[in-house]
Amino acid sequence: MKAVHYEGAFKVSVKEVELLKIQHLDDLIIKVTTAAICGSDLHMYQCRTVAEEGSVFGHENIGIVAEIGPGVTLLKQGDRIVLPFNVADSRYRNWEEGGTAFCTGVNPGFAGGAYGYVTMGPYQGGQAQFLRVPFADFNVLKLPPVKEHEGDFALLADIFPIGWHGLTLAGFQLRDTVVVFGAGPVGLMEAYNGIFRGVSKAFAMDTVPERLKAAQKIGCVPIDFKKSVDAAGYQAVESSGRKEQPNIILDQLIMAMRATGGLGIPGLYVPADPGALYEKSKKGQILISFSKLFEKNRQLRDLIIAGKAKPSFVVSHNINIDDAPEAYEKLDQRIDGYTKVLIHPNGLF
Ligand SMILES: [Zn+2]
Repeated sequence: MKAVHYEGAFKVSVKEVELLKIQHLDDLIIKVTTAAICGSDLHMYQCRTVAEEGSVFGHENIGIVAEIGPGVTLLKQGDRIVLPFNVADSRYRNWEEGGTAFCTGVNPGFAGGAYGYVTMGPYQGGQAQFLRVPFADFNVLKLPPVKEHEGDFALLADIFPIGWHGLTLAGFQLRDTVVVFGAGPVGLMEAYNGIFRGVSKAFAMDTVPERLKAAQKIGCVPIDFKKSVDAAGYQAVESSGRKEQPNIILDQLIMAMRATGGLGIPGLYVPADPGALYEKSKKGQILISFSKLFEKNRQLRDLIIAGKAKPSFVVSHNINIDDAPEAYEKLDQRIDGYTKVLIHPNGLF
């Protein structure tokens, strides 16, 4: 099968790799119909993590059940499914308490697992023609069998529910005012969820004109952040545009917030950053705790089916797997309007 391979800093290629096999009774193999490239994949692409060469990325996956382990009871061949990016086994305390993102059973020595992500366990990513899904009965959200809504449903794997989650972390209440720092796909999903949940006013800060335009289109007040910082999580730079300052976004958020306001920080702060300027940052010493990520993905799926939500407005490009190296390059440089890319490893729709 074909897969997108990480070759080292700023290089991915498409290679033939061995077909995946069922390894456990509870496994599934899916034929991937769509695998998005996430902004967090760029952290690995840019060598800002300890990701190893040969890794296959892809944690935002959707596909059709191709092979089924004998222990899987809720699914059958041909089912169309989306996979929340966190892998969990539904057997430990953190899961019982709603913390599926912190499963201690799927990635020994670490709380949390994911597909195709550095330090998140032995789960190959979905930027490939097939993907193995562990603990399948638990880790799968079923979709209607028809082909429609592919781009919208693909965003249920991560950024659409993450948008909901960020607001919940911030303690959002009806008619609150919300500001999102960074109007990339995740920031836009925060604002979009805010609009569903009855925000009184939403502001979106960014430096990229296409992003600010997209934010305005869904009803946000766009704010060009050029004179201050480039809002990019731990790779944010200060106002000169040269020097990285990993905590600057958090500081700015605190300053912008009213007293007793709430912060929601679903953006990525990695546990080790070999490319960081500062010793502390190299050890990942700005690390924010996440909570329950997928509490609302069922409801969000039903909003898509009912025609009330269309989160795929953030998708800029639908591509074949062979075009993945070019897409990584352009996403990384933020050129030619590349903002959110969906790879269709088994052909375009
Ligand atoms: Zn993602």
